[in-house]
Parts: sequence; structure tokens; C-alpha cells
Amino acid sequence: MRRALSQNSLDLRVRQVLVETLYTQPSSLLLGGICGILTAWGAAAQSANSALAASAAALTVIAISRVVMAWLLPRLKSHDSRLLEILYEAGAFSYSAICGLMAAQTLFLHAPPTVCTLMLGNAIAYGVAIAARNAGRPAIAIGQTFLALAPVIFACACQSDPSLRILAFSLVMLLPAMASVTLNTFRVLRDSITAAETSKRLADKMQDLARTDVVTGLLNRAGLNHHLVERLMAIGPEDKLALFWLDLDRFKEVNDTLGHQVGDRLLAEVATRLKARSPAGACVARFGGDEFIVACEVKDRRETELLANGLLDEITRPIRIDDDRLEIASSIGIAILPDDGADLDTVMQGADLALYHSKVNGRKQLSFFAPSMTRNLVRRKEIEAELRVALQRDELSVFFQPIIDLETGRIRAFESLVRWFHPEKGELRPDEFIPVAEESGAIITLGNWITAQAAQCAAGWPPEVTIAVNLSPLQIRAPGAALGILNALREAKLDPRRLELEITETVLLEHSANTEAFMAELANVGVRFALDDFGTGYSSLSYLNKYPFSKIKVDRSFVSGSSAGMKSDAIIRAVSGMASTLGMEVVAEGLETLEQVEAVRKAGCTLGQGYYFSRAVPDYLATMLLAQEREQSGVSLRRA
Ligand code: C2E
Ligand code: CA
Ligand code: CA
Repeated sequence: MRRALSQNSLDLRVRQVLVETLYTQPSSLLLGGICGILTAWGAAAQSANSALAASAAALTVIAISRVVMAWLLPRLKSHDSRLLEILYEAGAFSYSAICGLMAAQTLFLHAPPTVCTLMLGNAIAYGVAIAARNAGRPAIAIGQTFLALAPVIFACACQSDPSLRILAFSLVMLLPAMASVTLNTFRVLRDSITAAETSKRLADKMQDLARTDVVTGLLNRAGLNHHLVERLMAIGPEDKLALFWLDLDRFKEVNDTLGHQVGDRLLAEVATRLKARSPAGACVARFGGDEFIVACEVKDRRETELLANGLLDEITRPIRIDDDRLEIASSIGIAILPDDGADLDTVMQGADLALYHSKVNGRKQLSFFAPSMTRNLVRRKEIEAELRVALQRDELSVFFQPIIDLETGRIRAFESLVRWFHPEKGELRPDEFIPVAEESGAIITLGNWITAQAAQCAAGWPPEVTIAVNLSPLQIRAPGAALGILNALREAKLDPRRLELEITETVLLEHSANTEAFMAELANVGVRFALDDFGTGYSSLSYLNKYPFSKIKVDRSFVSGSSAGMKSDAIIRAVSGMASTLGMEVVAEGLETLEQVEAVRKAGCTLGQGYYFSRAVPDYLATMLLAQEREQSGVSLRRA
């Protein structure tokens, strides 16, 4: 059925091209018309016959209207080829008939022999020439030849002159001969047009395929480029084109756990949603993997942000595939042409950088391109490359910050904080290089090294002093994560009960079985856990019951940050209250003044950490702090 339809549409197209050939050379119509008019008026004048003059007038009118039509019709905006054909037919047939009739007229009217020769020659030449010219529509061509020659044949046959009778006979023979010439020319014409049309269609189809993504049916990278280049040519100087570059968060996990088929269906669903949510006329493309691009005209930044939020919402809605309910999120990077760049490449790069920014800032968010992103990216890339060799070059070390018992004032633990002394960049903050290490995967090696260092130092301290180590989410999710920590403990011969691992809420948000198993395995041998940076995220107290925590570390923004005050005081009180009923301790971070120490102590915190007591110090200074403390307590004991 589809084939038949496309065959039909092909035939129609070929027919249209063939009909157009009738009108291709209006100049030949004009020349033919001029010759016809001259001949007719010449004959009428020379024979001084009014009937011939009337015919010449009729021929003139028809010839002029045909030339005008041939010039005018193709210029009309909407012309249907059937109408063109009918109009052409009417003109062609009447013109041919008049040519033939005038020639016959000269014979019947016994015009002078030269006039007869002129008109006979005209009709025969016309009848023969038209057979080739109009071969594109053989019915018209054959009809015209017949109409031009039939009156001549009839008139010649009616004459007693044997030469004219022989001419009549020859012309009768000429009719089928010319018809066959017409048909042959027609076939050659039709076949070559059909072949050209077919190969054009194939080429179009191949091009479509090359520009379409098979999984989603959206434009692919090549299609998007082509589309955008065309779009930019049409865009006005006042228009803005926004590029939204989307990257699905953790799509790889879906692919790995549920299989590629589910992954593909998920991509197709995301594509459908993006198309539905994008404004009319927007271009939606899949840019390979789990990346999509939406491009559309926008008025201003506010509208762009609304659009981007709409797209984020659309993707975040749970997706059901068979029995699986998938929750997927996306990061978006946005750049606007011409605000963020004058050409497509620059704006694409801008959107890519903005996307990168969204991803490293915690995903599920959108970022507009800003010029500073280029600089940040360069620095990040440098850090990523240099971090690999930093360990071997001995540029990293672990520092220790004491955690103080607010009741006795004695050191209860040290938190290990990594430091990087870069030969050129100076001291780098962990906030700057830990996220880079997480992203590049280097955090696994780095984390194991930190734990080993910390355990080794702690083994030399008095047994009641514990050591806290920060763990990145990635370290916990890595296969054999618990084993790395147990190895470090074994090698340093450190009692597992002296190790405390600090983890943040983000690790627990994902409810992964891995995390539970990791914590259970280590808790089993006596390792303890502290919930770090409490108050900065969701601060859900439900984790405290569910996981084996022995400590809560209240983030320093509650103590010394801009939000510190009455409200945070109340929060610390509530957390401390709950912690004491659960048998946990509460550490206040970031204590910088005596007032702050007093305030958190009154609010119920049992432990404190901050510059008021000490900054993070190298291991030998930590050992010295402990020795000093013992000396002082020895002094006070002796005094007592
Ligand atoms: P964190 O775990 O919250 O560590 C406490 C941070 O607060 C440390 O910054 C510490 O130097 C700082 N700090 C302590 N007392 C005060 C104070 O009184 N005032 C102020 N303003 N700050 C104080 P640092 O060392 O720059 O570490 C930043 C973050 O980097 C840490 O936050 C932690 O999330 C991460 N980090 C540090 N070392 C490691 C590590 O070995 N492994 C992992 N995975 N992350 C680490
Ligand atoms: Ca910490
Ligand atoms: Ca903290």
C-alpha cells in the first residue's frame, strides 16, 4: 500500500515535471508565434482575401494569448499542473487547427500558388516541429500534429492536381511516423525524469537517516549541526537563541543494572517529554549517550530559566518502564546566542562548560554560562592532572585537628584533614581538590592513603584518643571499600574501636544496599561512625535511628556562620536532646571564640572543634599537644 502510494506520488511528480517542459521555453512559443502571425498576415495581404484575413486575426489573438500565458502562469504562486495542462491544451489545439485550416483555406480559395506554398509549408513545418517539442505530453503533441495536418491532407486530397494528392498521401503516412517519434521521445524523457527523481528521493532519505538518532527519533549530532546552521542564517539581529545542554544524572547506573534495552526506552521517554515540554519550533536533539540539546528562540534570561526549570521538572517525574519505576534527574547547562558568543561553536562550548558546572555542583540543577567558568575549568583540569603525581611526589600530607571534650577540656580525638602543598600553587584547600579527585576516581587511592596515614599516626597516641577520617561517598560505593579500611587498621595495628569514619548525609540519601553493608561490616568490628556536616543538607533525623552513628557533627554554619543565632541555638538544643536520649555525642564544629564554646556547651554539645582550640596541625604537633596535655594533667594531679 505504502509502495503503491509512493509510486503514485512519484508518477505525479514526474507528470508535473513533464507538464513543466511544455512551458520551459516560452521564447520558442514567441518565435513560433511571430513566424505564424507574419505568415498568416502575409498570405492574407497577398491574396487580398477577407476570409484569410479573418483567420489571420484569429491566429494572431491565439498566438499572443499563448505567449502571455506561457510567461504568466509559471509565475503565479500556486499553480496546479492540471490547470496548466488544460490551458496549454486549449491554446495548442486551437492554434494547430487554425494553422491547418488556413492552409486548407488557401487551396479551396484558389489563392496564388506562392501563397498556397507559404501556408502549406507553415502548417506542415508546424505539425512536424510540434511533434518533438511537446513530446513531454504525447497526447497534446500528437493531437496538434493531427490538427495541423488533417485539414491540409483533406484539402490536398480534394484537389485534382496529382502532386497535391501525392502530398496528401505522404502526409497521411507522416502522421503515424511523427506519432511514433513523439512516443519514443516521450519515453526517453519520462524514464530519465523518473530516474532522476528516484535517485533524488533516495539521496533525501539517506540524508534524513544520517541526521536522525535511531533510539529516540530525534535529530542526532549531524542533524543538530545542520539545523542550527540553517536556523542561524534565518535569525534576526534582535533574536536570541538559547541552547540547553542536558545530561541525565546517573544514567549509566540504569544501563548497567537494568540493561541497555531499558536504557534505550528511558532515553526514548525522555525524548518524548523534552519534545512535549519545549516550545513550538524548538529543536530537540540527542547528542550521543545520555546528552540532549534543546535549542529555541527566547526573549530574555527569565524566560530561559523558566523553560529550563520546566525541562528539569519534566525529566524528574518518575518514569515507569514495565515494572520498574525509574527516577532520573538531569543537569542543564545554558548558553545564549549572541550574549555568550557570536558563533555556534562558542555558544556550544559555553553550554558545555555550564553543564559541567552544574554537574560538579551537585547535579539536578541548571547553570547559565559565565566567563569565569572557562578559568575554573582550566584550573580543575590542571589539578586533575597534577593530583595523579602529587602522591608520588610527596606533596600531600595529613593534618590533625583536635576534638575537645567540652566538660573536661581534654583532647578526645583528632580529625584527619588532608593538605596539599603544591610547589607552584601553594597550599591547596581540600574543598578544591577533593571534588576533582572524586570526579576523576582518584579519591579511592587517595582515600586509602589518608586512612593508612591517619591510622599509623593514631597508633602512637594514648589508647583513649580516637582518630576521625572523612570518607567520600565514592569511597563507600567502591567495591571492597571496607576491606581497604580494615587493611589500614591491620597494618597500623590500630584497634578498630579507635577509628571513627565521618560521612555526610548525601551518602545515605541513596538508600543503597552497599552503604548499609559497608557500615554494618565495619560497625561489627567496632569502627564508629559520625554524621558530618549536620544541618547543611536535608538534616533528616531518621538516619540516626537507621544507621549505627555514635556522633553528630553540627556544621560550623550553626556556630559561626551568618545563620548562627537564636534559631540555630534552638536547633542545636533539639539535636543535643535527641542525641543524648539515643546515647550519641554532639560535636560543634567551627568554634572560634570562647563565647561560642560557652554557647554550644550550654546548648548541650558534649564535644567541640575549632580554631579556638587549635587548627589542623601536622602529626608531630598533634603528638606534642597530647604530651603537653598529659604533662599539665600530671602537674595538676601532683598538685591535687
Ligand atoms: P569538614 O569535614 O567539615 O572539615 C572541617 C573543616 O572545617 C576543615 O576544613 C577545617 O580546617 C575547618 N575548620 C575547623 N575549625 C574551624 C574553625 O574554627 N573555623 C573555620 N572557619 N573552619 C574551621 P578543611 O581542612 O579545609 O576541609 C574542608 C573539607 O574538605 C572537609 O570538611 C571535608 O569535607 C573535606 N576533607 C578534608 N580532608 C579530607 C579527607 O581526608 N578526605 C575526604 N574525603 N574529605 C576531606
Ligand atoms: Ca569532617
Ligand atoms: Ca564537618
